[in-house]
Amino acid sequence: LSNNKQRKTISVKDLNPEFKHEVAKRRGGEHIRRCFACGTCTAGCPVRALNDDYNPRRIIHQVLLGMKDEVLKNDFIWLCSTCYTCQERCPQGVRIADIMTVLKNMAVDEGRVPPAYAQQGDLICKHGRLYEIDEFDNRKREKAGLPPIPTTCDDVAKIFKATGLDKKLGGKGEESK
Ligand code: SF4
Ligand code: SF4
Repeated sequence: LSNNKQRKTISVKDLNPEFKHEVAKRRGGEHIRRCFACGTCTAGCPVRALNDDYNPRRIIHQVLLGMKDEVLKNDFIWLCSTCYTCQERCPQGVRIADIMTVLKNMAVDEGRVPPAYAQQGDLICKHGRLYEIDEFDNRKREKAGLPPIPTTCDDVAKIFKATGLDKKLGGKGEESK
């Protein structure tokens, strides 16, 4: 569990043996215990090609070892582009891309959301989309012969509140009320 740039000693007392079972219980995580560490996922990963510190095989291995805290606080789980190359190629049927989504969801459940994603969530909560639409935009649309679009979207904020996503993103959804 080291790379060329960083080595870290793992203390057994910090491991959580239930972590792999928690992941296996979630949709997509069912087959994680089949992994035999062949590295096929890492070999074909396009994110790995850009950043050799990113290593899906290592993330799966860390889950199997029970390194819950290490995995969920790691920015690497958020780098996965969900391209599914690894999942298509895994000889053991491990749903690696889906597991990355499971890990992101678990991180969000614990309130661990990278600031950039929290800000995007805040925008979606407030505007129903990733950017604000105002009357200036609608005048431009009118000139182009396009119908106006709503400048607010309260329904999305209601969904954020009903699902608790507003609180998981740091309560930003509350601020939009
Ligand atoms: S390709 Fe599948 S079996 Fe091989 S290391 Fe990745 S997850 Fe494990
Ligand atoms: S789904 Fe994620 S981990 Fe798998 S190959 Fe694509 S970027 Fe890499």
